[in-house]
Amino acid sequence: MSRFLSKSKHIDSRQCTACGIDLAKINGKTLTEALKQAKWKHGYVKEWLNNWVYVCPRCHANELDIYPFLYSDKVMRTVSDVIAPSSKSEALDFCGFAFSKSALQRH
Ligand SMILES: [Zn+2]
Repeated sequence: MSRFLSKSKHIDSRQCTACGIDLAKINGKTLTEALKQAKWKHGYVKEWLNNWVYVCPRCHANELDIYPFLYSDKVMRTVSDVIAPSSKSEALDFCGFAFSKSALQRH
C-alpha cells in the first residue's frame, strides 16, 4: 500500500499524522507525473488521475519537488513555500486563483 493512500484515510484532520503540518491537495495527474520524475517505486493508483490527492509537503518533499499543489491557505504552492518560505512564497491573485511565485514558475 502506498504511503499516499494510507495518509488519505486521515483526510478529516487535514494534518499529516507523521509530522503534524497541514496537508496539501495535489491534482492526481500532477502527482503521478511528480512520482515518475522521482522514480517512485511504490506503485500508482488509477483513482488518482481524476481526483485531488492529499499529500504532506514536508514528508513527501523529495517526490513533490517543484510540482504545484493547493495548500491549506488556498494558494497554489510548491514544497519550498511550505518548508522554507521566501519572497517567492508571496501569493499572487489571478482572477480569484492564488499562486505563489514559485508555483507559477513551474508553468
Ligand atoms: Zn508530514
